[in-house]
Amino acid sequence: MRIRTRTGLCFTLAALVGAAFGLATPPFSATASARAPKHAAAGATRDPQDVAARIVGEEMTTNGAWPKLAWLADRIGPRLSGSPGAAAAVAWTLEEFRRDGLSNVRAEKVMVPHWVRGEESARLVAPYGRRLLVTALGMSVPTPAEGVTAEIVEVDSLDALKTLGDKARGRIVLFSHETTAGREMAGYGATSPLRVKGPSEAARLGAVAALVRSLGTLRARLPHTGTLVYADDAPKIPAAALAEEDALLLHRLLEAGQPVRVHLSLGCVTLPDAESANVVAELRGRERPDEVVVIGGHLDSWDLGDGAIDDGAGVVMAMEALRLLKHLDLVPRRTIRAVLYMNEENGARGGKTYVETHKGEMARHVAAIESDSGADHPLGFRVAAGPGGEAAARALAAPLAAVGAADVKAADEGGVDIGPMKAEGVPLLGLRQDVTHYFDWHHTAADTLDKVEPRALAENAAAMAFMAWALAESPEPLPRVPPAAPPAAPAAPTAPAAAPAVSTKPGAP
Ligand code: ZN
Ligand code: ZN
Repeated sequence: MRIRTRTGLCFTLAALVGAAFGLATPPFSATASARAPKHAAAGATRDPQDVAARIVGEEMTTNGAWPKLAWLADRIGPRLSGSPGAAAAVAWTLEEFRRDGLSNVRAEKVMVPHWVRGEESARLVAPYGRRLLVTALGMSVPTPAEGVTAEIVEVDSLDALKTLGDKARGRIVLFSHETTAGREMAGYGATSPLRVKGPSEAARLGAVAALVRSLGTLRARLPHTGTLVYADDAPKIPAAALAEEDALLLHRLLEAGQPVRVHLSLGCVTLPDAESANVVAELRGRERPDEVVVIGGHLDSWDLGDGAIDDGAGVVMAMEALRLLKHLDLVPRRTIRAVLYMNEENGARGGKTYVETHKGEMARHVAAIESDSGADHPLGFRVAAGPGGEAAARALAAPLAAVGAADVKAADEGGVDIGPMKAEGVPLLGLRQDVTHYFDWHHTAADTLDKVEPRALAENAAAMAFMAWALAESPEPLPRVPPAAPPAAPAAPTAPAAAPAVSTKPGAP
């Protein structure tokens, strides 16, 4: 376990955030001058600094998110779409929302792809025999029963692949590029297209299979799965991820001029679509209950691990946010709705279906927040909104400096599941975590509960709860995303020079 030394809590929030909320028109003016004493009756004040202190204090003391994540990861475990684990997760989260006393708890039908991994193996067969550690990419077709044996040809980019011409024909293409670690998503954003698009691009050149050097940042000889997306107009070839060390071995052998042959056997199958669900619950607003702030993460996970960091953490942050606000009697003007999306990993059907199901309500969705980058310390939010949205969100988030989550950056998206709401104009926010170590375990058998630090999870749950409350309480909603928005939301004309948009994970769950 990594030990961190951040001191974290600070209850003198007023000193930290006074400037941010000392605007000419404070976003929350109702009771700011009548701040209640610390132990006032619940709901006695709506001053953002006091509300943040209460939320953070409660969660850091009780850590209600932790037992929820422990149950989801340890008692339910892997939750790939269509699996028994996914069904158990739907049933349990419904029960848990009801236990927490929330409103309108329901499962909303989503039809999901039903892909099953099966047996999988790979061997180096020349220049010598050796086992290779491999795992199928999600949605891959199987190999023939006898497997595929072919020479390896290696490329480090999709552009390099195009230069191969006939050299890919009859071969297994190995996509090999290092995924660099960092506090934001840049490394994964750069390499994920190799996994998502590479197999179809290799198939166009006549390749018989594709291997991808795992998109990971720790050499623990773990293959990292993740979805591929087959192009409609290309042959479908089997594709798998190799443990990084094994990809590097093949690279060294090829560099030494050795002919490298690999045998690959994948037993995966794609069954007919299965019925599953998004799980929804609400804290109804006190003044404008028809206006909605959506919060959530994705309930499905890959099958190799227990989906603790991806995305059990995001799921329990949203669940705990509603529980906290209800428990503290912090009922905002607008409704806060938790949506636990199904099938982010291999189809993103939950997010699409949510928008279809709630089409008539989209104009009254004032914001959507997603967390889908683990449970390490929160950094703040990335925001895709109309002009001025970044500055407005920054003012709202200021009281989260106490948990290090006040940094707001412009972006062009906030998460895969909430992405479809962008075309409806809904401002999108992604809760950003420090992902320096997220891709060490991402999509591997090692995505287990022990990778989550309870204190950091509590910080995240508090950040999600406060930002949801702030967006639902603020008299002025964030500016909506304009139609046909440019790829990166521009900063407000009067804002200081904007930081570059946060690099995320284009087109890749
Ligand atoms: Zn995820
Ligand atoms: Zn994932």
